[in-house]
Amino acid sequence: MKNSIYTAPVYKLEELNNLFIELTAKNCNQRCHNCYIDFPLSKNIKDFISVDKIKEGLNDTKFENLHCIYLTGAEPMTHPDFNSILRLCLKRCNVCICTNASFLNEKKIRFFKKVEEEGLDINNEISEIKNQIFFKLSLAHYNEIESDKVKYRGNYRQTIYALKTLSRYNFNSILSIQNFYKLNEKEILEMFNKVFKDNEINNTDIQITVSHPAYSDENFSKPASKTDCMYGRTLSQNGIYACPFLSNDYRGRVGSSLKDYSKTIMAETDYCATCSKNNNFMFTIG
Ligand code: SF4
Repeated sequence: MKNSIYTAPVYKLEELNNLFIELTAKNCNQRCHNCYIDFPLSKNIKDFISVDKIKEGLNDTKFENLHCIYLTGAEPMTHPDFNSILRLCLKRCNVCICTNASFLNEKKIRFFKKVEEEGLDINNEISEIKNQIFFKLSLAHYNEIESDKVKYRGNYRQTIYALKTLSRYNFNSILSIQNFYKLNEKEILEMFNKVFKDNEINNTDIQITVSHPAYSDENFSKPASKTDCMYGRTLSQNGIYACPFLSNDYRGRVGSSLKDYSKTIMAETDYCATCSKNNNFMFTIG
């Protein structure tokens, strides 16, 4: 009889280069069909991380070589202190805002440019180094109807508008394509370049990444050589987690503070199977 004992890979943190800060676990103004978050019925959950917790996290990591802080959620821009948190983090290193794009109107984008250009810290003192703000948005298809079926109605237009406006203000964006339709990667890139051209968007400001969901019949036949948990940790109101997927999931909990947390994680969840299938970062920008 074939031995069917399965052992999950153990991934070790090589260096803490990426800090994901979950600004809220459940507060979002939208409900994407494909979202990995298990939302309550009410949209008005006030589970925001405190600014003090973020300051403590930044202090605990002051000797780490952080490349980028990712502001994640649910929707991070619903946090009432979002602007102060952005300034606080930008003082430390580059910041990537992972958003559903619905708050990215021209006024807000102009404000972000001002914050980035001024290099202001929270006390309005000039920082020596100007760090950059990046934006991470996502779509599921180059066709509006197909993409909105996976996300929510209106998401495609909001995202294309946001990409166009961000590009006008010289921001770099990452467009993450979640390939639920199992399309050919070459086709995805070609068709998005056409979409950008049709919408007069400068595609050199946009990096497209394609990720493939794992399906239930697949598992970790091969451990990944590159995962978010090898170079990052997530700070949430409830503790420290291996990555944003496993935030608030006991299987991904690695400690209670960034002073002292586990550097290893047993990659045993379906999300870990997705990382193994992609053999690449799912959140971290290249
Ligand atoms: S979901 Fe991916 S990044 Fe998160 S712990 Fe599992 S393998 Fe690591």
